[in-house]
Amino acid sequence: MALQMFGIPVSRGVAVGRAVLMSSARLDVAHYFVDPGQEEQEVNRLRSARAAVRDELQTLQTELPSDAPPELAAFIDVHKMLLDDPHIGRETANWIRRRRYNAEWALTAQLDVIARSFDEMDDSYLRERKADVEQVVERLLRALRGTQAIDGGAHGDEDLVLVAHDIAPADMMQFKQGVFRGFVTDIGGKTSHTAIVARSLDIPAVVGAREASRLIRQDDWVIIDGDNGLLIVDPSPAIVDDYRVRKQESELARQRLQRLRNTPARTLDGQSIELLANIELPDDCEAALRGGASGIGLFRTEFLFMNRGRDLPGEDEQFEAYRRVVQTMGGRPVTIRTIDIGADKPLDDGADYRDGEFTHLNPALGLRAIRYSLSDPAMFRVQLRALLRAAGFGRLRILVPMLAHARELHQTFAQLELARSELRAAGIEPGAVEVGAMIEVPGAVLMLPLFLRHFDFISIGTNDLVQYTLAIDRADESVAELYDPLHPAVLQLLAQAIAQSHAAHSWKDRPVHVSVCGEMAGDPQLTRLLLGLGLRSFSMHPAQLLAVKKEVLRADCSRLAPLAQAVLGQFEPEDQARALAALAA
Ligand code: PEP
Ligand code: MG
Repeated sequence: MALQMFGIPVSRGVAVGRAVLMSSARLDVAHYFVDPGQEEQEVNRLRSARAAVRDELQTLQTELPSDAPPELAAFIDVHKMLLDDPHIGRETANWIRRRRYNAEWALTAQLDVIARSFDEMDDSYLRERKADVEQVVERLLRALRGTQAIDGGAHGDEDLVLVAHDIAPADMMQFKQGVFRGFVTDIGGKTSHTAIVARSLDIPAVVGAREASRLIRQDDWVIIDGDNGLLIVDPSPAIVDDYRVRKQESELARQRLQRLRNTPARTLDGQSIELLANIELPDDCEAALRGGASGIGLFRTEFLFMNRGRDLPGEDEQFEAYRRVVQTMGGRPVTIRTIDIGADKPLDDGADYRDGEFTHLNPALGLRAIRYSLSDPAMFRVQLRALLRAAGFGRLRILVPMLAHARELHQTFAQLELARSELRAAGIEPGAVEVGAMIEVPGAVLMLPLFLRHFDFISIGTNDLVQYTLAIDRADESVAELYDPLHPAVLQLLAQAIAQSHAAHSWKDRPVHVSVCGEMAGDPQLTRLLLGLGLRSFSMHPAQLLAVKKEVLRADCSRLAPLAQAVLGQFEPEDQARALAALAA
């Protein structure tokens, strides 16, 4: 009987494939398929790495001082023995030959198999030998780094789905190359950054599946139902067939949506709606354009800074990335957010270059986003200068995340002014930019007039607004049930922010553009509600653009406005559900 598990659906669609189980610590190695026919060459890479490690261990042993404790020499013997053990040599080569995994991936896959069998041992001495195997594999991975990787890229014959306890957003990024057809993690919430990246990959994903990585075994057949958050392990052929049909149907539905690509996003009552894209890397612009985006509403630049150790991108490198986005978008507005490092987005998979920073007890409430940037003004100005330079090549807007204090706002503008004068001193004329504030902290909504006075536009980050209004960690699956974008308090804040922004034109010399760039904006089930609350600009993953446009085309804002107001007044769940049903009718 097939095993079924439920988690939180975060990225839609269905994937059917063989499970690749990987421990979080191993996800940062390269994963690619070697081209057919190149398997033996890759096995040779592995062989050379083993020879190098054998030499390394031999040298270590011969250079041991005469007074070294005898256990040390014995230790090295154990490592030499493990290196020659067929479980490491032959079995790893098998992953390369059978699956065409690159050597690093094959090694970590095999390490996970070995680690599991060690975990199941009763003998605690033997259980502890797992650490020795890990050390040997670490040495091999280091040795492989010194050898020329064989370029791959072609897909294996079978579809693969990744199952891990957790995946850091930075690690998820490397899967943009498309090795896996789906993802499952034990932990995480719907708007955790790992989930957000999975969604941007447009691949079925389920997070918060608790026991999945313990119960699913390497190579098991798994169905990931990203629409319902369901996992089916070892499904019967009939179930697989059923899901294959569903997969085809959803692909057909996507193709049908493509027809809307060039249709203007206008409601039945003639309101023009701006549909913008959220991106993580410059390459994502292609998907944004394919989805018919009228611009970029959120470029999460922190992804340029991840997996870089201490080698953070300098001004020129950043400038090139920003200029590329601005130019690719060909005159459409491009909103680039200054880095939002911290919380569940550490710089380097937990090991930040400013040591110890993420050991804070409450990282989501700690040194994050603008607080992080202002704590290192020199680094902040590198980014601001790069942005101001890129602004000379198109319509660039700078967006500042997580502001809450007037002081932060004034310091940000002071740094921006300083960045401008530094550029001028270097003989470079800074480009013109609009500057916007992200509204993601309830305190910022409650003092919105201050933000409206100083900024050209605001962008409401509902992912964090929900997190901070309801005191729910957005990445914690144990409280995921309570993470509710429709909570009456969240809706009140959202409505207030939209209405006050619209009203600002009466006391400010120009209107203040307001947009929502959190996940709510990309949820077609919420489009009517947001339109009813007066929202006219939505920013979302490129994959969501056309589904939201479909809702826009069917909507009549004049009819939705009173219905949305009626939702706002409801605090009891049943009353709210009734008001929402009227809005959907
Ligand atoms: C948000 O908080 O809604 C947002 C868009 O920013 P991020 O998801 O990157 O925190
Ligand atoms: Mg945010």
